[in-house]
Amino acid sequence: MRATQVVNTLLLKELVSAFFLAMRYFFAPKPTINYPFEKGHVSPRFRGEHALRRYPNGEERCIACKLCEAICPAQAITIEAGPRQNDGTRRTVRYDIDMVKCIYCGFCQEACPVDAIVEGPNFEFATETREELYFSKEKLLDNGDRWEREIAANLSADAPYR
Ligand code: SF4
Ligand code: SF4
Repeated sequence: MRATQVVNTLLLKELVSAFFLAMRYFFAPKPTINYPFEKGHVSPRFRGEHALRRYPNGEERCIACKLCEAICPAQAITIEAGPRQNDGTRRTVRYDIDMVKCIYCGFCQEACPVDAIVEGPNFEFATETREELYFSKEKLLDNGDRWEREIAANLSADAPYR
């Protein structure tokens, strides 16, 4: 067999094998999704945007014990506490998280004795300015109200493993 015939045969074999490889991936399930119209599974343990939760009667869970502030390795949490006007119980008058400092370690959630501060499932909170990532108590409570159903479901799903 002449050298050119050998080269042609080898090329043909490569082409056929490349064709079948391409066809295999053409019909295989796609590993990518059409984000943001499609979203992937988010684990119940996902540590996303922070939120302050309330009890079902609307009462703030947080008792201003400051454990979350003490344990935060990034010193991202700032709390000021004081007696509440109507019953004198201890509550936060200021609760801020600097989300630029936060490293999403989840220690604040782990330390909280009343499941007040949590890292919710929301990961879509990109902002245009740094100031918008300085979360106030109002913003955190608002996050809690907005995501309470998902947060409660995630905590319940994870409870058997704790
Ligand atoms: S997740 Fe970690 S770094 Fe972020 S606020 Fe909580 S304790 Fe601090
Ligand atoms: S969020 Fe939890 S740990 Fe932090 S001050 Fe409130 S009750 Fe204490």
